[in-house]
Amino acid sequence: MCNKAVFFDRDGTLNVDKDYLYKIEDFEWTTGAPEAIKYVRSKGYKAIVITNQSGVARGMYTVDDVNRLHAYMNESLKAYDTQIDGFYFCPHHPKGSVPEFTTDCDCRKPKSGLILEAAADFNLSLAESIMFGDRERDVLCAQNVGVRGALFDPTDDLLRFVRQYV
Ligand SMILES: [Mg+2]
Ligand SMILES: [Zn+2]
Repeated sequence: MCNKAVFFDRDGTLNVDKDYLYKIEDFEWTTGAPEAIKYVRSKGYKAIVITNQSGVARGMYTVDDVNRLHAYMNESLKAYDTQIDGFYFCPHHPKGSVPEFTTDCDCRKPKSGLILEAAADFNLSLAESIMFGDRERDVLCAQNVGVRGALFDPTDDLLRFVRQYV
């Protein structure tokens, strides 16, 4: 028996896009984002974040910083009695400054490595899953592996948007 997931892009979809966000004090949910997470889980979907974090490769922040922010997101979601089930991020960039993360990887969107990793971890049916993001590359990384993808306009309400599909 397979599970199904809603994959969410992070910056510009779940939270207000502030270039290379990593500080907790700068984190701000987009309108309807916590409610959208709660809603899709109530419909039987795992809520999974799929995000490019090339700031790691660029030396702007660390993997620990990313993990700390993600822990904060779930802490914040306790007030809504919900949570994100999994966080997957790509720390790489082909032109980074940190050698360890400077590579042309298979997980930076529009490549689909993160979705495939999550699918293996959660035993997901890709055909029953869906990805929401504010960039074309979010839609592409989904469609490349048979996941429906829908483009979110960050000025919209995420709960309202998600309810059109889920
Ligand atoms: Mg985005
Ligand atoms: Zn990567």
